[in-house]
Amino acid sequence: MNKEGHVLNAVLLGIGLGYVLEPAGDVATLRTIAEVTIPVTLGALFPDVDTAFGRHRKTLHNFLVLGVFLAYPFVFDNLQFVWLGVLTHYILDLAGSKRGLALLYPWDREFRLPMGVSTSSDYASLVTLLITGFELLIAGSLVFYAPSYVPQELIEHGTTALGA
Ligand SMILES: [Zn+2]
Repeated sequence: MNKEGHVLNAVLLGIGLGYVLEPAGDVATLRTIAEVTIPVTLGALFPDVDTAFGRHRKTLHNFLVLGVFLAYPFVFDNLQFVWLGVLTHYILDLAGSKRGLALLYPWDREFRLPMGVSTSSDYASLVTLLITGFELLIAGSLVFYAPSYVPQELIEHGTTALGA
């Protein structure tokens, strides 16, 4: 997926998550949208840095990198929501393009889904919207039906890292 698609996905995901986390549609919702959208967008832009440093779709498109961003909220109590941008970047690359990702890098093998449209396709934006809707459905289901499975450190500011 191209940069435009990743930004569209991240911004819509941020707005949607604002409503998932603070459904009232009031000031708290707007505040949450602001809180979530920028970190998710930054995270969504990060993996393609490997077009300049490293090897594209390998060096920064893998579980190791995702794990680092997942660890930050727990270890340093910062970078909340950036991991989500990284994750949605992978999902969009996997589902919204033909080529795979070296998810187990440094192992070179690229994994792909038996789906996806080429990044230059007329349907690229439609696929991006569908994937974003699907992600919001999952996020909404988790928050509403299984909130205890969502670690608060990942989605909340000001929580004490590691229960200390
Ligand atoms: Zn990418």
